[in-house]
Amino acid sequence: MRLNSENLAAFFKEQLSSWEQARDNYKALENVIVKEVSVGGFPFKVQFNPARIVSSSAKVDKKSIKERRCFLCSENRPQVQRGLDFVYEKDRENPYTVLINPFPIFPKHLTIPMVAHKDQLIGGRMGAMLSLAKELQDFTLFYNGPKCGASAPDHFHFQAGNRGFLPMEQQISVLDRESIFKRDHTSVWAVKTVFNGLFAIESKEIDLANQLFEKVFSVLPVKEGEPEPMVNILCWYNNGQYTILLYVRERHRPSHYFASGHSNILLSPASVDLGGVFITPLEKDFNKLNDILIKEILDQICISKEENRQIINKIKTLV
Ligand SMILES: [Zn+2]
Repeated sequence: MRLNSENLAAFFKEQLSSWEQARDNYKALENVIVKEVSVGGFPFKVQFNPARIVSSSAKVDKKSIKERRCFLCSENRPQVQRGLDFVYEKDRENPYTVLINPFPIFPKHLTIPMVAHKDQLIGGRMGAMLSLAKELQDFTLFYNGPKCGASAPDHFHFQAGNRGFLPMEQQISVLDRESIFKRDHTSVWAVKTVFNGLFAIESKEIDLANQLFEKVFSVLPVKEGEPEPMVNILCWYNNGQYTILLYVRERHRPSHYFASGHSNILLSPASVDLGGVFITPLEKDFNKLNDILIKEILDQICISKEENRQIINKIKTLV
């Protein structure tokens, strides 16, 4: 069945009634504990979510990935898991399937893999993401790069969570900004506080948004041995406007993830965390996480101020 705005609610309901594991996990989410931590005025939430241990501690090195069966390929998915079809009109060769995520963070959480088993690389695929954002107007779409939190770095996929959940959806309009480009209903700007390397692209035109994304993406630093810059992306369509938030990453996991003993924090930050909701699968980490630690983690996983400045200058020469 094709994805459309009418059949998504019924699809969700059908999956929760026929799929016990998903139903239990969505039910458990209702009782998940959340606390607020303000960092530089930004109201982060911390969610204690034990079911997410699978994702946060996922082994994503090449060997482990090669040895496991890909959980996004249709032949390996549980039989009870159904999907809605989505085709991006400018890339009909690469259709997608909209699935409900059985390990939710959001009250409505979707995983949207490409049907074909292809690497997690965003170059050339932003058009599909923007088009999906328009189709799923009650959702924020997100993308985790292969070394930025994706637990299936070998199978291309987006995710989506219902809007009204990530603090960033509201905060982005009040955060201090530096304008990089502005014309008509289109703009590119950099956030000047809390996050280093956070760029926003806003446009009423899908093609313009897509072109600007590709331009910005083309100037980002690429780590040695990597095919693409390390990024997380949030994207939504609201009031006739597309918004893309691009986070440029320095590293995947903060030093706290690898620390031993009391200093250890099991945290693999990805789009949702950078959108303002830190997910801790362990209660000790939920209790421990405070403004100082969150700032430390952000400073480690995002690029430096200097690199941020270089990128801004490069974008200015292109747009
Ligand atoms: Zn696959």
